[in-house]
Amino acid sequence: MPNTDLKNAPARKRIKKIIQFLAKEYEPVCGLRYKNPFELLITTILSAQCTDERVNKVTPALFERFPDAKAFTTALQEEVEDLIRSTGFFRQKTKSIIAVSHVLTEQYGGEVPQDMVALTKMPGIGRKTANVVLGTAFGFPAITVDTHVKRLATRLRLTDKSDPDKIEQDLIALIPAKERTDFSHRLIWHGRKVCAAKKPKCGECILAEVCPSNGSILKKIIE
Ligand code: SF4
Repeated sequence: MPNTDLKNAPARKRIKKIIQFLAKEYEPVCGLRYKNPFELLITTILSAQCTDERVNKVTPALFERFPDAKAFTTALQEEVEDLIRSTGFFRQKTKSIIAVSHVLTEQYGGEVPQDMVALTKMPGIGRKTANVVLGTAFGFPAITVDTHVKRLATRLRLTDKSDPDKIEQDLIALIPAKERTDFSHRLIWHGRKVCAAKKPKCGECILAEVCPSNGSILKKIIE
């Protein structure tokens, strides 16, 4: 029987169940393919406004031609653009990749720094990208607020903010450090597979009994 009390309870009461239900359903894995922290950083830049599947199609050829940061520092803008064109926003992404590669080569010996401040100082790197790398490549507790996490955190009423950095802080306050990175991956999978932006499948959702938006979204769509 659905626990309606829990559905309407404050976020702090519901979060344990949300973490548990997601953990039963999804592996905490990143959809991007990468072999090392540098590749994850570049694939995450490429994933802006693009699906992981599409990014995964272009990266084998990209990393064969440019295997590390140093290699990208010698790249011609046009050559990188051609290799990543299908991911969209390819001119800006190319500029970011080459600029980040220069910083990594000149300041960090070609290695990706394991540090939020250092990462977010780099051209085109925001907290979202930095959190993906810190959490997934280096194992730090990290909440990644991408479009799925933003939408689901709102529907699950885990936040009342719209700014991703503030949503991140709200989720950090609710979720134990050891769960944060896995929680982000699982919530992203749930957003992709069940709680889509336009037609959330509330009727088959494992979070239905703890989601205050269950039904109300459907009602809005019908209205
Ligand atoms: S019940 Fe509906 S709105 Fe809530 S998480 Fe599930 S699919 Fe999304």
